[in-house]
Amino acid sequence: MHPVRPYQICTRCIMDTSDPLIEFNSAGICNHCRGYEHQKQTMVWDEETRETRLQALVGAIRNSGKKHEFDCLIGVSGGVDSTYVAYQVKKLGLRPLAVHMDNGWNSELAVSNIKKTLDTLEIPLDTEVLDWEEFKDLQLAFLKASTPDSEIPTDHAITAVLMQRARQHGIKYVIMGSNVSSEAIMPSSWSNGIRDWKYIKSVHARFGTVPLRSFPRFTLLQFIFSRTVYGLRWVNILDSIDYDKARAMKVIEDELGWVYYGGKHYESIYTRFFQSYILPRKFGYDKRRAHLSTLVMSGTITREGALKAMEEPICEEGLLRQDKQYVIKKLGLTEAEFEELMARAPRTIADYPAYENTLLLRVLRACYRLPRTLKAALSKASPGGAA
Ligand SMILES: [Zn+2]
Repeated sequence: MHPVRPYQICTRCIMDTSDPLIEFNSAGICNHCRGYEHQKQTMVWDEETRETRLQALVGAIRNSGKKHEFDCLIGVSGGVDSTYVAYQVKKLGLRPLAVHMDNGWNSELAVSNIKKTLDTLEIPLDTEVLDWEEFKDLQLAFLKASTPDSEIPTDHAITAVLMQRARQHGIKYVIMGSNVSSEAIMPSSWSNGIRDWKYIKSVHARFGTVPLRSFPRFTLLQFIFSRTVYGLRWVNILDSIDYDKARAMKVIEDELGWVYYGGKHYESIYTRFFQSYILPRKFGYDKRRAHLSTLVMSGTITREGALKAMEEPICEEGLLRQDKQYVIKKLGLTEAEFEELMARAPRTIADYPAYENTLLLRVLRACYRLPRTLKAALSKASPGGAA
């Protein structure tokens, strides 16, 4: 456990000591603000070169898929980012295959958003439905493990499914909805282990009861192999265009008939409940703080606006009660069993075997980041020089 520290909030964004690892400089500005700047500098394409670079990227994607039915994959959840990715890739003249992973928690709105979007854009859909008994067992295992990473299995599985489909169809590009302007800030202490099969496997080995036969997975070695030998590229297309989330929402509402579902990632009922009930009550943080801080940094909202938004209830009370009953029942728990899980002392990934806890991963990560870090340092040293 992290030691208790006096409350402090960043003077620039609204991140605070609910991230136990947050650091502030002498001006009271936090490491997340500095991290945002770094990501913006290294990952978001600047306005002057954007169009040329985008055309080159589109050319490379088209070229890679010449002999195949599709030239790229997109993951769709029914949320804003992935819907806007679908809209953009078609606008860019690409031939995508959409992949959706159904983990059993889709809201009706998410399903109808996906259908409307893909029908309108004429994008074929391939849905992977997870084995419910296996997935439920894995979700329960994470609740029993008492770490804040209960959503990791879903994110891991969708990555695994995208890797599988890419190989199956000879596709070299996965176009993602991750983006700096609305997602850059997320403390590592709040969420960890998406690509960490060792972590998922160890939690399940300790707390699971059903063998994981069909659950989509990949090891660290398979992930490295897919990038280096197979040459799979993960493209964050929204960082390559001028992405403004509010504007994007308007476009997909007007042109695709997409309907808003209330909060970030609230397209899934489990995610909505996990983020608005389990995380704040058991782990003491509210993910909206990171999302809003990112929007403050990207200039989409003011700091005052973000603080005001934090005063709003995280989820409407009636809906929260309804979700709680639904989740408990669907996971096959009694109310008392759920409360016992809520009362367990919080733990972290560090308490379980995981790649994350190995020196090897830290070295690999540093090697992966090195070219970007060097490039950023060079462009800082000679502004206007390296682009
Ligand atoms: Zn900050």
